[in-house]
Amino acid sequence: PLCVEELDLSDKHFRPCPCGYQICQFCYNNIKTTLNGLCPACRRPYDDSTIEWKKISPEEMAMHKADLAQQAKKKAAARQKEAQKREADSLSRKHLAGLRVVQRNLVYVTGLAPTISENELLETLRGDQYFGRYGKIIKIVVSKSKETSHHQQSIGVYVTYARKEDAATCIAAVDGSQNYGRTLRAQYGTTKYCSAFLRNETCNNRNCMFLHEPADENESFTRQDLSA
Ligand SMILES: [Zn+2]
Ligand SMILES: [Zn+2]
Ligand SMILES: [Zn+2]
Repeated sequence: PLCVEELDLSDKHFRPCPCGYQICQFCYNNIKTTLNGLCPACRRPYDDSTIEWKKISPEEMAMHKADLAQQAKKKAAARQKEAQKREADSLSRKHLAGLRVVQRNLVYVTGLAPTISENELLETLRGDQYFGRYGKIIKIVVSKSKETSHHQQSIGVYVTYARKEDAATCIAAVDGSQNYGRTLRAQYGTTKYCSAFLRNETCNNRNCMFLHEPADENESFTRQDLSA
C-alpha cells in the first residue's frame, strides 16, 4: 500500500476499489481530492458507490483490543526495566565511590627522610640510587606528611612503573630496608574512581590518574578492608 503507517483496524477492512487493493482512508481521500482519483493498482477511477466495507466481527474487535493491550503491556515492561537498570547503575556507582583499587604498577613508599634538597628530590628519586633502578618510571609523586611518633618529617612517594614486574621488584627490595637510619615501607598503591566517571560524565582532564572504568573486583577494597 501507499501508507507509511500501519493500517488500523477500520482501514484493514476498507476496500475502495473492486480490485481489492488496500489503502487507508486518509490516502483514499487524498487521491480523490488532490490527486488523479485513480486506484494506484488498477488505474480504475475510484467510485464511492463501489467502496466495500467488511463488517468487523466482535471476535476481531476483541482480538484487536487484546493486541493493543499486549503492546501497551510490553511498552510498560520495557520502561520499567529501563528504570530499574538506571537505578542499579547509579547504586553501583555509589558503591564504587567508596572503593580503593590496588594498582599493581604503583608503589607507595613511606619513611624516606627529606634529606635531599627539594628541587633535586624528584630527579634523585627517579635515579639509579633510588626507584629508577627497578625499572622505567612513568610518574613519581611526593607527598609530605608528619611522622607523629618521631616528630620527624618524612615523605611518602608514589612511584608508577611502566611494568608491574618492576613494581613487584621495587617492593621486594625496598620494603623493610634502611635509609638514613629509618626503615622504609613499600606497598602497592591504590587509586579511586574519577569523580566525573562516578557522575556518569566524561572526564575532561587528560592527565587524570583516577579510574574511568570498572576495575577488577579482586583488586577493589573498601576503606575498612584496607585499614583492617
Ligand atoms: Zn494511507
Ligand atoms: Zn483497483
Ligand atoms: Zn578523570
